[in-house]
Parts: sequence; C-alpha cells; structure tokens
Amino acid sequence: MNALLCVDAVHAHYGKSHVLQGVSLHVQDGELVTLLGRNGAGKTTTLKTIAGVMPPTQGQVRFGGEAVHRLATHLVAQRGICLVPEHRGIFKLLTVEENLLLGQRKKSPWQLPDIYRIFPRLKERRANGGGQLSGGEQQMLAIGRALMNAPRLLMLDEPVEGLAPVIVEEIVAQLQTIKAAGVAILLVEQNLEVCTQLADRHYIIEQGAIVHEARNADFIADDAVKDRYLGVG
Ligand code: ATP
Repeated sequence: MNALLCVDAVHAHYGKSHVLQGVSLHVQDGELVTLLGRNGAGKTTTLKTIAGVMPPTQGQVRFGGEAVHRLATHLVAQRGICLVPEHRGIFKLLTVEENLLLGQRKKSPWQLPDIYRIFPRLKERRANGGGQLSGGEQQMLAIGRALMNAPRLLMLDEPVEGLAPVIVEEIVAQLQTIKAAGVAILLVEQNLEVCTQLADRHYIIEQGAIVHEARNADFIADDAVKDRYLGVG
C-alpha cells in the first residue's frame, strides 16, 4: 500500500505485558484519521510505537515508503512524524516564543508568523512563560511547536481533554486549518463530537488490536458500533 503511514501488524510489550497485539492501520497524505477506544486499549502506545519512543517487538511501521520502526525518535521526527503527547511537554521557564523556536527547522513551511496567524493567542502571549499559560494555550503551543518542525504527519494524544467548550471549538478550527494546509493527522481523542467534526476516517482499537474501521459518515450513523466498542451511542 502507498499510504503515507502504514502500521503493519505491530506488537508492543511493557515488560511481559503484551499491550499491542498486531495493530494495523494506515493514514493517507493529508488525511485526518482518529484512533478511538476505551481506556487502556492501546491508543497512546500505538502513537509511541509510530513515533519511535517505544520500538515494536514485532511488525513494521513504514512512512513515505521507508521502514522507520527501528529508527531513534529524533530520526523519526526528522522524517516528518511529530507526536504531541498528552502532557504536552511545554518548557515552563521558557517564553512562548522560545518554546516555539525550539521546534524550528529552517526549511519548515511553518515559521513564527504562520504559527501566530493560526494561533493569535500565542502571539498575544509570546513573551509569557510557558508555565503561565492556560491548559488550552499550552495545547496550542505544543501543536505550534510541532508544526515548526515541518511535520507531514502530526499525531495528537487527547488534545482537548479537560478544556472548556469555547477553547475546544477554537482548537477544532485550528486543526481544520492545519489539515487544509495538507498535514496528515492521527488523532487520539475521547470527545466524539470533536472526532466526527474533523475526521475522514476512524479506527477503533480494543485490547491492542484494531476491531473496526469506518469512514466518518458511516461512523456517525452507526450507533451500534459506538455502543459496542465505546460505550456511547
Ligand atoms: P488511556 O486512554 O487510558 O490513556 P490508551 O488506550 O491510550 O488508554 P495505553 O496508554 O496505550 O492505552 O495503555 C495500554 C495498556 O498498557 C494499558 O493496560 C496500560 O495499563 C498499559 N501501560 C501503559 N503504559 C505502561 C507502562 N509505562 N508500563 C506498563 N504498562 C503500561
């Protein structure tokens, strides 16, 4: 398959605990795909294996046709895979602008003015310390910093968790802009409304394996699947 990202029968272990048991999924160029599932299903671990944070014990991750599952994290990032983890990784003692510049790659199509255009709040706060930001602003900063690194695939782990509805709306609109600019996105998110507003396709993972795949319109209409795998519907 010629998808941008191909995850092929990936297994992963934490010690003896066999957490991913043959995860296969793909993301096309410019596509926004969600990975849904109950707590502990293996969503974060899947993102970590793709990002090279946790090498798979079996299976392959291919990106742009190249096998990347044995590369160190910084080399995976250099290929254009960026993970924004749940805890966001903001440097609290650095300013917003310093945090952004840490992600900068000279040839990135995303430079400071581009980030400030998408996230006007970050421009207003650019001289403030990372530790002074609200949760929503920290999330925007983490996404902005990832963009500065010129991702072809942005992976987001629960970007709107715990944020106020008005901020969630802002982030959804910003992600739509980023997607429209051609960046592929793999999104882990519990808020199904957000997922269905943004996604082209969804995967559901259960006990470390993909159990369902659907295009967005089919997923929206399928209450039985939402009830069976996610406990909503
Ligand atoms: P959540 O929404 O709760 O974060 P998730 O679908 O992202 O869930 P993972 O975080 O990938 O799930 O965890 C998958 C399984 O691996 C869970 O059973 C979890 O308890 C276990 N696990 C996660 N991190 C570790 C770790 N560092 N050491 C051992 N086991 C872990």
